[in-house]
Amino acid sequence: MAGPFDSLVDQARADFDARPSQPLREAWQDLDLVAVRADLVARLLAAGIDDAVIEARFLLQHTLAPMPLEAALAGRELVAWRQISDLADLAWQRLQRIPLSQVLGSQPFWTLDLKVTADVLTPRADTEALVEAVLARCSDAPLHMLDLGTGSGAILAALLSERAAWTGLGIDLSPAALAVARQNLDACALTARAQLAQGRWGEGLRDHSFDLIVSNPPYIVREVLAGLEPEVRDHEPAMALDGGEDGLDAYRVIIADLPRLLRPGARFALEIGFDQAGAVLGLAEAAGLTALECLQDLSGHDRVVFGQAVLPNG
Ligand code: GLN
Repeated sequence: MAGPFDSLVDQARADFDARPSQPLREAWQDLDLVAVRADLVARLLAAGIDDAVIEARFLLQHTLAPMPLEAALAGRELVAWRQISDLADLAWQRLQRIPLSQVLGSQPFWTLDLKVTADVLTPRADTEALVEAVLARCSDAPLHMLDLGTGSGAILAALLSERAAWTGLGIDLSPAALAVARQNLDACALTARAQLAQGRWGEGLRDHSFDLIVSNPPYIVREVLAGLEPEVRDHEPAMALDGGEDGLDAYRVIIADLPRLLRPGARFALEIGFDQAGAVLGLAEAAGLTALECLQDLSGHDRVVFGQAVLPNG
């Protein structure tokens, strides 16, 4: 005789079977974890994902945590079918070329582990060059900074985490991005020193109110965007990537406003594309900014333009 919960159980089972990852669960149901891993690597490679071995490791570690992966592979830990099902759900997303950061929900940046969704640009190692450049040039003296287009809040959080006397404001046009940034600042215990506000670059912000302005604006040439990897092209927010026809649209707006927003003598740091140093330095010079320099990332590419607002008598 059917019990009161039978229809609920049937419904749950039907929902489970209807999940898009069902083919993966079917393929893996009779395999041990070593074979599941090998199959996952093969599928990732077939989907065009080059770092398949390391990505499979991240996906496995994420689903098995806190169980150590090596112990699970050696059969010394009991891996539940539930965990294999969860792995199938994550793997299925990654096979659709959803970025690993979005599948796992977080991404390491600087010393932090930041929440990432499809509403924000995934923080990249290249951007750590900007963080490093700022830290190398600015002491721990109290300072009020501005991050234009803060996205996940990565740059703001990294800098405030290293400089206990600093305060900051993060601006973004996207309310959804600001919600992610808020969670990141909160998780890093930085909310007391950081504010977030919706806005279009520096619009409406008070004159000469910042000691440091940083930004990683969208800088990809629009035509190039269509040829990028599907992870970036289809799953990261276009508004964080699309720099317009020549990739420089955001720099024109931001740089023209820097002399107004910066206190006299205050500094700025902008992330740039590898081939944009000349153009961005030119815009900065035309805006009357001084002490201009271009710094490289760890791959040796031009990545950061650094400079200063003129002092009143300089
Ligand atoms: N560096 C990023 C990329 O090439 C672009 C980031 C940006 O436009 N600010 O994917």
